[in-house]
Amino acid sequence: MNTLNERELERYDRHLKLPSFGLEAQLKLKNARVLLVGAGGLGCPIGLYLAAAGVGQLTVADFDSIDLTNLQRQIAHRQADLGKPKVLSLVQRMSDINDAIEVIAASERMTADTLPKWLHDVDLVLDGTDNFSTRYLINDACFFAKKPLVYGAIHQFEGQVSVFGPGGPCYRCLFPTPPPPESAPNCAEAGVLGVLPGTVGLLMATEAIKVLAGIGQPLLGKLLLYDALDSQFRTLALSPDPDCPLCGEKPQIQTLTPIAQVCAAPNPLEITWALAEKHLAAGIPFLDVREPFERERERIEPSHWIPLNALSPEKIPFDEKDLAVVYCAMGGRSLRAVETLRSWGYQRTFSLQGGIRSLNLKT
Ligand SMILES: [Zn+2]
Repeated sequence: MNTLNERELERYDRHLKLPSFGLEAQLKLKNARVLLVGAGGLGCPIGLYLAAAGVGQLTVADFDSIDLTNLQRQIAHRQADLGKPKVLSLVQRMSDINDAIEVIAASERMTADTLPKWLHDVDLVLDGTDNFSTRYLINDACFFAKKPLVYGAIHQFEGQVSVFGPGGPCYRCLFPTPPPPESAPNCAEAGVLGVLPGTVGLLMATEAIKVLAGIGQPLLGKLLLYDALDSQFRTLALSPDPDCPLCGEKPQIQTLTPIAQVCAAPNPLEITWALAEKHLAAGIPFLDVREPFERERERIEPSHWIPLNALSPEKIPFDEKDLAVVYCAMGGRSLRAVETLRSWGYQRTFSLQGGIRSLNLKT
């Protein structure tokens, strides 16, 4: 399809007037085929805006149905649709917005068996899911199929967005393995600010349009962090990890395999023991913020030690630019310490998720 008809020229008029966008980029969108996994908080704004923007073929995958707690943030669903499949509700809204595009509903669970089939004919994938098992599955499947993946995650008041794809890092470069179920809070219990998936979903939709239309600088090799409470955006550089179990030099994952169900989104200030262990071996400084009696009982060696209530800028045993891991018993105090350290300029400090106890949970 090398042209737009009269109605499309009118519909996309404001895109066509944009410098460095114009007819060429709009035709790229028209010819693009996209898979959106998830018709929830992230999926709703992504689906609505990509439909409005004129992405030619949009497949939405979701197997869940609408309940009343969804309506606080899943903006495409209506009260009249309670109990109906989310995917049917969202694709109906998308079709209502734009009848010039093809919208496909995939009302099945994405698994290691079914996902490759859906990836086959698409140009780009957006991960709008809210659980680790599907997130790792989508990452791995996109890596094997060599498809660009727009990733987004939300947790309470925080969100993160990145683009993974050929030549850049993958999700496992960032988080090599899913966290143990014991250390992952329940999705429903963690809570989320209703507007947050709107903000993060639209950042994801923006990245998808940039990749498809070939404009701007997508977040390839970068992780965008958003904190709604502080109104702050931060961008971290991400490099492919040579030790990545999927895309590294000696990959341990050779085929797409099912991943155990784990529910939760990562906090961008935390790292798992799987990654922290590598940092420890590489000589990255560790800081224990527990009380003396706790440190006497067990400790990570080597590690520096400053109890949380004694933390002050002049005592920090590493430089502002250094990568460092902070730990406590269960991950609560170390998270507060990392928030404090980052406010002092130590932007590369991370809290050990689940604390020193997560070492005992390690499988
Ligand atoms: Zn990787």
